[in-house]
Amino acid sequence: MSDVCSAKGCQAPATWELLWNNPKLHTPDRRKVWLACDEHKGSLSDFLGARQFLKDVVPHADAG
Ligand SMILES: [Zn+2]
Repeated sequence: MSDVCSAKGCQAPATWELLWNNPKLHTPDRRKVWLACDEHKGSLSDFLGARQFLKDVVPHADAG
């Protein structure tokens, strides 16, 4: 089974990984990962970017 997008209610296969860090909760080298489909890559990265949490966006390699 493919990994799915982290956007609420979205069941699309993930094609991107958004790597983020909340400095109030996480040590600086910690990375949380949200998965995103092509459709939600923009909105999810905007959400994280607006809070200055977004560190990197990389293609998701499907382990399946
Ligand atoms: Zn999605």
